[in-house]
Amino acid sequence: MFIFNLLLQKSYNDKTIEEKLLLVQNQCSILGNQILVNQFTIDALQSNLNVEIDQLANVWEGRILVIDSSYRIVKDTYTIDQNNYIIYDEVVKVMRGEKDKNIRMVDDYAEIIIPIVNVDRTVNGAMIAMVSLKDIENTNAYISMQADVLILLFSLMAFVAAFIICNVSVYDINRLNMQISGLSEGQLEDLKVKSRYNELSRLTDSFNALLNKMQVLEDSRQEFVSNVSHELKTPITSMKVLADSLLMQEEVPNEMYREFMTDMVEEIDRESKIINDLLTLVKMDKKASGLNVEPVNINILLELLLKRIKPLAAKRNIEVVFESFREVVGEVDEVKMSLAFSNLIENAVKYNNDGGNVHVSLNADHKFFYVKVQDDGVGIPEECQAQVFERFYRVDKARSRETGGTGLGLAITRNAVLMHKGAIKLYSEPGEGTTFTVRIPLKYVS
Ligand code: ADP
Repeated sequence: MFIFNLLLQKSYNDKTIEEKLLLVQNQCSILGNQILVNQFTIDALQSNLNVEIDQLANVWEGRILVIDSSYRIVKDTYTIDQNNYIIYDEVVKVMRGEKDKNIRMVDDYAEIIIPIVNVDRTVNGAMIAMVSLKDIENTNAYISMQADVLILLFSLMAFVAAFIICNVSVYDINRLNMQISGLSEGQLEDLKVKSRYNELSRLTDSFNALLNKMQVLEDSRQEFVSNVSHELKTPITSMKVLADSLLMQEEVPNEMYREFMTDMVEEIDRESKIINDLLTLVKMDKKASGLNVEPVNINILLELLLKRIKPLAAKRNIEVVFESFREVVGEVDEVKMSLAFSNLIENAVKYNNDGGNVHVSLNADHKFFYVKVQDDGVGIPEECQAQVFERFYRVDKARSRETGGTGLGLAITRNAVLMHKGAIKLYSEPGEGTTFTVRIPLKYVS
């Protein structure tokens, strides 16, 4: 508003001065004509012309000088320089016809020199009009004052409005903030601020969604901790029972002693397997641990895994077949990929019936490679399919324990696949068999 006011004043000022000067020039030319008619005998005749010039000078709050062709001042409304000669540059130029007029601004005055011209266009004299611009300045000052008052008034109103709007909008934010501060000290509860602003409502909703996610994470963390404690305690409890029963008997037969000790070694192995699996999972969870990605021939990797597993499968007459549709080289972390696929293949053998079949296939397109591990074993009931990737989840606890499972294998597999920005899916029909499909990008993009 301030700048607008300044610009407006400037253009108004320029325009009014321009108009005033134009008016002065017109009136001077009219007077000039009359002076010419009177042949510059202004004072002598005491004519109306003389009075007219004086009146005009009065109206302009200025001074008018009439100069004849010999540069003599024939009329000075101030009478000071009457009959004196005036010769200065601008006057000379106008008199000689070099300039058709001369306008000069001096403080709050404008000096206009215009020639008195004959019919034949020859210059016969000149008029110098000094016009006060004070009236324009005064009007401008008045308008500017009015504008300043208005600006001040508007600024005040804008300030009050801004203050009120800020306070009203901040009110909800403050309430939200108080609830969030309360949350950090107490339980994770949903925020209950109902705001009239859409943005704040959306923020509350997003925050509540985040809180829910945190709650889910917290629940799963607690469940994980209790699962870990339970899983780690089970072998220790068994060992204690075995050791106690040995201690309680006075004379322990050697065979029984050996049998109990063998059981205890098994429990120790189990405990260390759980700890190893847990460590692997924890390492994978730490994003910083990262992947050691390099080009790996997936055909060779799978063949090696199968070579290791085949003898175990053969003991139960399970046939393991590998089918490769093409040579595949993928950018993967070899150790983690081996772990992921070996868990799947081991499970296909573990949860298979004696004499069953395991079919492992490898294929690729221009973006991904696909590994499919298919068995015709016990299958997974539909209601358990979503949970099998969770830590410590087992469909049949007894079977898993019998086969030395920890319930962490599929969790490790899924983590490894996700770290490679891949995907894993399972299809299963209880009693018919299970198929796991894994899709991994050929090129790793971090
Ligand atoms: P575990 O160490 O018990 O094998 P996993 O995490 O590898 O743990 O698997 C979780 C559970 O999913 C297993 O206990 C088993 O019940 C089920 N499961 C996994 N793979 C198969 C499969 N190929 N066929 C049937 N059930 C399976």
